[in-house]
Amino acid sequence: MAKPTDTLEWNYSPSLESTNHIRLKQQYGLFINNEWVAPSSKKYFSSTNPATEEVLAEIAWANEADVDNAVKAARKAYETVWSKLSGAERGKYIYRIARMMQERAREFAVIESMDCGKPIRESRDVDVPLACNHFFYYAGWADKLAYAMPHKKPEALGVAGQIIPWNFPLLMAAWKIAPALAAGNTVVLKPAETTSLTALKLAEIIKDSGLPPGVVNIVTGHGDTGAAIVNHPDIDKIAFTGSTNVGKIIQRAIAGTNKKSTLELGGKSANIIFDDAPIDQAVEGIVNGIFFNQGHVCCAGSRLFVQENVADLVIKKLKARMESLYVGNPLDKNTDIGAINSKEQLETIEKYIRLGKEEGAAIYQSACEIPSKGYFCRPTLFTEVSQSHRITQEEIFGPVLTIQTFRTIDEVIQKANNTPFGLAAGVWTDKGSRIFNLTTKLKAGVVWANTYNKFDPTSPFGGYKESGFGREGGLHGLGAYLK
Ligand code: ADP
Repeated sequence: MAKPTDTLEWNYSPSLESTNHIRLKQQYGLFINNEWVAPSSKKYFSSTNPATEEVLAEIAWANEADVDNAVKAARKAYETVWSKLSGAERGKYIYRIARMMQERAREFAVIESMDCGKPIRESRDVDVPLACNHFFYYAGWADKLAYAMPHKKPEALGVAGQIIPWNFPLLMAAWKIAPALAAGNTVVLKPAETTSLTALKLAEIIKDSGLPPGVVNIVTGHGDTGAAIVNHPDIDKIAFTGSTNVGKIIQRAIAGTNKKSTLELGGKSANIIFDDAPIDQAVEGIVNGIFFNQGHVCCAGSRLFVQENVADLVIKKLKARMESLYVGNPLDKNTDIGAINSKEQLETIEKYIRLGKEEGAAIYQSACEIPSKGYFCRPTLFTEVSQSHRITQEEIFGPVLTIQTFRTIDEVIQKANNTPFGLAAGVWTDKGSRIFNLTTKLKAGVVWANTYNKFDPTSPFGGYKESGFGREGGLHGLGAYLK
């Protein structure tokens, strides 16, 4: 565990989460028709622990033939079983999956932290409970579709192809699978190549739950596996969460087909602090928005706008708080900032930090030590940045914050909207009228007021502009899987 600087008055002893109960296979096949099958490609790749660089397991790399098998299984299950079941019966299976996930919550949290690098506090208190709640929430809708969409005769789309990223591996799988099943679809899901393990553990639960074979199929692999799903002619819907670049490739690939799609892409979200905000809470909100979870959040509050007359105070408090953040072993319960998910991502973040310096911005990094092994990055902030700097325009996906100041509301709205993205924003002020004014003018799918990064299964989430389209969560998320 890297220690914070000795300027602090307090220090914690390490408190490591046990991994004794974790059982991982050395090698994972593909999950098709409720069976583990070897990939016809015969290829496997390693999933490593980004905090230790140790290999955790070998994962099957599905090719087009494997994806085709999975889609055929999903189609057969859709036509012969799943579309014939009543909503109440579907709901029972989804509830069962939710309860079984809850029973194994600790195991999921530990594996998530080992495979993904996120602090155990996050995976234990956020990712896993929220993932279970998504299954519980959508289980409740399965027999009420007619009430959800009155006078519309809602019908399932068929087979959904779902491709997810590495920042919230289990949670993203839940966001995708739960509404699809509730609406009556069957699924072929591909986890991200660096974080397949919790999806594969979920496959164990799916099998144990007795869900009919073929209703959920999990194919692992890299971008080419994702592309095989996107291009498969018998898929009715593509649900994708990931980078804007891949989102554009997918949109081009499905143009002119009957495939429906929802895309949740990148972000460069604004967190806006007014001079009447509760400053200490706002500082916590900034830290939560960009530093916790290593900034690996699509809606990370990576651009901070502070009203000029409180800027010095906010920056001073923020720097002090940064010095108290623990960077290190994700399995230590004291850790605030775990490991960056992969070597490639760490290189990307470091490239942007160098770029920020070259662009003339002033850098501040906390003085904490970071472990010599594994992929770690100190919390970093840049001041003296302008709207044209690349570090304020491009998504970095790491614990890197840029700070700009503003004087008037119109100015901050203009600055906050000056981005190709539009995923989320945060507003910190004592004035309710100001919050409502900003929520209508900020071009962001979600605007949080006096909080940040709050999620709930009942609440829709999604973007504007290059952050994508379609909503996940809530009724909107259910509608995305219905005709
Ligand atoms: P990130 O930058 O967050 O890693 P990516 O968009 O590269 O985001 O990856 C998100 C998911 O998309 C991963 O599961 C990845 O394997 C998959 N993917 C990558 N390239 C493609 C592609 N061309 N078509 C479909 N899926 C892809």
